[in-house]
Amino acid sequence: MVETIYTGPVFEMARQQFQATADYLDIPTDARDRLLYPKRAFSVAIPVHMDDGRTEVFHGYRVQHHLSLGPTKGGTRFAPDLEIGEVAALAVWMSWKCALAGLPYGGAKGGVACDPYRLSQRELEAVSRRYMQEMIPFVGPQIDVMAPDMGTNAQVMAWFMDTYSMYRGQTVTEIVTGKPVECGGTLGRMESTGRGVAHLAARAMERINVPLRGATVAIQGFGNVGSITAKALHEFGAKIVAVSDHTACYADPRGLDVPGLLEHLARHGVLAGFSNELAADPDALLATKCDILVPAARERVIDADMARRLRCRVLAEGANGPTTPDGDAVLEQRRDEIFVIPDILCNSGGVIVSYFEWVQDLQQFFWTEPDVLHKLYDLMSRAFEKVVHRAARDKVSHRTAAMATGVEKVRDAKALRGLFP
Ligand code: NAD
Repeated sequence: MVETIYTGPVFEMARQQFQATADYLDIPTDARDRLLYPKRAFSVAIPVHMDDGRTEVFHGYRVQHHLSLGPTKGGTRFAPDLEIGEVAALAVWMSWKCALAGLPYGGAKGGVACDPYRLSQRELEAVSRRYMQEMIPFVGPQIDVMAPDMGTNAQVMAWFMDTYSMYRGQTVTEIVTGKPVECGGTLGRMESTGRGVAHLAARAMERINVPLRGATVAIQGFGNVGSITAKALHEFGAKIVAVSDHTACYADPRGLDVPGLLEHLARHGVLAGFSNELAADPDALLATKCDILVPAARERVIDADMARRLRCRVLAEGANGPTTPDGDAVLEQRRDEIFVIPDILCNSGGVIVSYFEWVQDLQQFFWTEPDVLHKLYDLMSRAFEKVVHRAARDKVSHRTAAMATGVEKVRDAKALRGLFP
């Protein structure tokens, strides 16, 4: 194993998944390090004047995984315990995700170690603008294109775009995706990840012959991905029986009031305060008996023990990296009971519509929302069929089939191009 700065449990997980896939693809050992380890990584100090008069320095990162298929692309996470190993793992997963969906990108990821829930709006703007300022030498519409992830949103992307544009002296909308529609964003981007999760959950239910109407759903995380998934599945006629975020957990076997939850979220930003009667134990959420379980918060929440306790029929991974390799081993034994839609497939709607946004910005020619959704569902459905078919043919897990499809595309591009990218 090479000496590396990429350590910690999340990178270790990405490494183990990659090794399992490389074994299945029979990739020679000398080609593995080149595929796995990121091409570039940046660490920056972000000094910010806080509201109380202090100057605080935050740590920011950006990891660009490979350059073999085009610019790199990936989200920006604002989270208190962010470290470079986690960012690198997320960049690696983005690579396999983009390649699986057929997008002309390598993976990237970045972020700032800060707690966005505790920053004032002015402090959040200062952190966002200064982070982008520090990144200017390393990003560009043909080099590395950012997007939102946990703790960031369309407003943060508007600040990123504005900061980069001020430096260039002209508006450069194509430097980030996930922007508000008012400043170059695409219709449908904000909802794309959650809608994609719901679309594939519906396809999985079809596969196992369980009707979606009246089906029960539990969702961990009620931010962008979790809340939109809840909305879309509710619109399909499913019952959302449990939801949680970092402030509260609610459950109701008769089905929660989804429009009410969304309204509460829009007003307060978190679930806390929605109801006293429906409060439930957040630690029990993942083990809720339901048809569809959607982890849509943090990574590594389904380990071997939790995988044994799951009582769902479809596991739709909205979050990145929710299942550990140990958890995967258990799910492998439960393959006939639980249909897994792996993260790099399940939550790929976000990067797919980000790609559409980038294309529209480059051409300054904007599509209608039905156009965006039609193209999104088409790409996702094709990737879904490919993964399910390969897994059945080769008797491997859906995760290995999905990863293999992404990894071999990057491997082949590298083999054809040579050593540079
Ligand atoms: P977000 O910041 O909008 O929401 C995160 C949610 O998780 C919040 O509701 C937060 O309260 C909740 N949460 C945090 N810790 C929790 C805990 N311990 N228990 C329960 N809930 C907890 O972030 P998001 O954009 O919705 O991202 C969620 C996940 O989806 C992440 O893994 C992210 O990488 C992944 N993802 C996001 C996108 C996207 O387009 N936003 C695309 C692909 C994947």
